[in-house]
Amino acid sequence: MQRDYLLKVVDNAKNFRVFLARTTSLVEEAHQRHGTSATSSAALGRVLTAAVMMGSDLKGVNDVLTLRINGNGPAGTVLATADSQGGVRGLIANPQADLPSRGNDKLAVGDLVGTDGELEVIKDLGMKQPFTGRVALVSGEIAEDLAQYFLMSEQIPSLVSLGVLVNTDLSVQAAGGLFVQALPGAGHDALEKIENNIMALGPISSVINANEKLEDIVELIMSGIEYTVVGEEEISFRCNCSREKLLDVLCGLDINEISNEESDDIEVHCNFCQEFYCFTPQEIESIKSNKP
Ligand SMILES: [Zn+2]
Repeated sequence: MQRDYLLKVVDNAKNFRVFLARTTSLVEEAHQRHGTSATSSAALGRVLTAAVMMGSDLKGVNDVLTLRINGNGPAGTVLATADSQGGVRGLIANPQADLPSRGNDKLAVGDLVGTDGELEVIKDLGMKQPFTGRVALVSGEIAEDLAQYFLMSEQIPSLVSLGVLVNTDLSVQAAGGLFVQALPGAGHDALEKIENNIMALGPISSVINANEKLEDIVELIMSGIEYTVVGEEEISFRCNCSREKLLDVLCGLDINEISNEESDDIEVHCNFCQEFYCFTPQEIESIKSNKP
């Protein structure tokens, strides 16, 4: 399978910057871990893609970004958390929820997510308070909602495109995203030019599917515009849960709260990656008794 990565590009006249990402493998991994339906794969895949792209813009090594969308549709909350090192994990409240496709086989992501709610971005930059921005959902299609967020909450006019192509066997054929963000003082003509180039491309998931190298897609997007590739980053599905971390959490609880039968093993489940961890009561007691 083609590797997932992300390119950052700036036009030489400094009118805008472009982020382009292939996320096929990480969205397929999320599909396998969460057992998502076709439309749920698309919804979760778009949120994962957006989050990992936004995460790549974080400055601090330990900075974390969470993108949460809840439109009160059948999907429930769709959430992804990205670090600044290209790692992302996520979940969808109702992974099996699905709806019939609209015309042209277009997955009904907007209907699955719903529009009666908000998109929320939380950036934990190691300060006392995390930065939080919220906008009301526009369409539940996620890309449009995110463009609204960039404009209203960060005052950055942006073009956002997110797409996931799902095969009939429910595997993910292609996934990716494109952000174009105007830089301060951007010229109208330059923005119009790139917008026209992108319109001519067609859906981003098809473009990702048809091109092995993101560099080739950048050439199409930047046709007639001088540009420089300023960054490249590996991206992947990555959960930061571990036995040690979960044992720490368990040890903070009253053991009688989590198990009635003393002989029962305790199984803990990570919502983000669906891994199961099994602990014996003796294991937890021994750690507890070693604590000061
Ligand atoms: Zn996990």
